[in-house]
Amino acid sequence: MSVTISPNQASILTEAAQALQQHIRGQVILPADQDYEEIRRVWNGVINRRPAVIVQCLGASDVIVSVNFAREHGLDISVRGGGHNVAGYAVNDNGMMIDLSLMRGVRVNPQARSVQVQGGAIWSDVDRETQLFGLAVPNGHISTTGVAGLTLGGGYGHLRSKYGLTVDNLLSVDIVTADGRLLTASEQENSDLFWAVRGGGGNFGIVTSFEFRCHTIGTTIYRCAPFYPVEQAGDFIRHWRDFMASAPDEYTSNAIFWTIPDLPVFPEAARGRDVIGLLGVYCGDPEVGEKYTRPMRELGEAILDLSGAVPYLTAQTGWDPFFPHGNLNYYWKSSHLSDLTDEAIDVIVGMGAQKPTPNTLLLLWHFGGAVRRVEPTATAFWSRKVPFMLSFDATWSDPTDAEDCIRWSREGVQSMQRFSDGGSYLNFPGMGEEGDALVRAAYGGNYERLVAIKTKYDPTNLFHLNQNIKPAL
Ligand SMILES: Cc1cc2nc3c(=O)[nH]c(=O)nc-3n(C[C@H](O)[C@H](O)[C@H](O)COP(=O)(O)OP(=O)(O)OC[C@H]3O[C@@H](n4cnc5c(N)ncnc54)[C@H](O)[C@@H]3O)c2cc1C
Repeated sequence: MSVTISPNQASILTEAAQALQQHIRGQVILPADQDYEEIRRVWNGVINRRPAVIVQCLGASDVIVSVNFAREHGLDISVRGGGHNVAGYAVNDNGMMIDLSLMRGVRVNPQARSVQVQGGAIWSDVDRETQLFGLAVPNGHISTTGVAGLTLGGGYGHLRSKYGLTVDNLLSVDIVTADGRLLTASEQENSDLFWAVRGGGGNFGIVTSFEFRCHTIGTTIYRCAPFYPVEQAGDFIRHWRDFMASAPDEYTSNAIFWTIPDLPVFPEAARGRDVIGLLGVYCGDPEVGEKYTRPMRELGEAILDLSGAVPYLTAQTGWDPFFPHGNLNYYWKSSHLSDLTDEAIDVIVGMGAQKPTPNTLLLLWHFGGAVRRVEPTATAFWSRKVPFMLSFDATWSDPTDAEDCIRWSREGVQSMQRFSDGGSYLNFPGMGEEGDALVRAAYGGNYERLVAIKTKYDPTNLFHLNQNIKPAL
């Protein structure tokens, strides 16, 4: 939903927004300002929205002033953390964009093994600081993703089997609610809100600070990364599925359909080849990881093998160059799978063969260990028991590929429906076009409780530019 504003309203708003600067420590940015074009841009190049006003906040008090201003002036609010959300929820047309991208402070407490992170940080900020002490917070696969959106939506990463989702490691948040209060939410304080933010997205307020539990993982992990010819994908995915059925918590893995980029960093013979990668991170003694993953590396002759003991920071940043900010276009969707039957694998292999562009990924995610030991009702994140997810990461640079890419993702989700529990990962929402249906299916038995908490903290649905949970009327 977006509002339209008349020229008269626009000039009143411009005056009011100029006055707002006096109450803001950061910057109020209007369409005529020099930086406006750059600051309004988000990671997905398809998104092209023009807010009436952007506030680049420097702290909780800026966020409170902005929320009060937007509410009082009837402006839509969108909140920018890392700006990575595929649907572009961070930015809107004609409303206020509350931009936290300057709030990237990180402070590790090595004795308590916890870390305090500001609401606009990205994961590389956190990894760099925690790794100084050999610590880590489970997060995502790409280090430029925002802490806020990934955490509030769940958070699947390289350490998930051992330490769970990112939300499972959240200790507290400081959050600005729709009425402009700054609350702390934890198990002890405002515990209903704390339950809701662990999976409920940006529905309940603007998080200015996250506190996470850290884990001692050292600074080196074992990365398993053989890439085989895509023609053998069916057989190899079956092997991988059977291998993962008894995998220890230390091992987290994905199977990936990919096209090796035509870049000098890759061997010439490998460039441009379509491959199936059986990738994983062993979080534990790298020598044990090396031995444990050998069967996955000896399935056949690999076209490329990036396996080895590597710094954790290398594993966390390895995919970053292929997903740059603003230059590429994206439409990513997902489907939670109740089982990975031989029949499902055949359909997946067919989808992999029809990958619409070389940049596109088709990813199978295995969920085991700590992810599945948490009860679905323990946090707002409902989908705890599914063993696999398939994500359709359609990515293109040539605008004429857009239609094929979007169709491929949508048809992929359709073709997986008979193998799915009907749920999906809300952090891969396409353009969020299914609205309520997608949200209800993803929250399953937690949906009504989320509605009650939304009604308590945001009865007028001020925070609606997200995977929206509507308050009760
Ligand atoms: C290249 C790439 C790789 C990814 N890999 C993974 C992965 O490995 N694992 C995984 O789990 N997910 C992954 N994701 C999905 C990712 O978790 C979501 O895109 C997430 O929404 C990004 O968060 P952000 O803060 O960068 O996004 P933004 O676009 O800034 O925000 C996303 C949503 O969160 C809200 N929001 C942002 N900041 C705040 C805040 N401080 N308080 C309250 N609400 C806020 C926004 O309003 C919006 O609704 C990936 C995404 C991309 C683009």
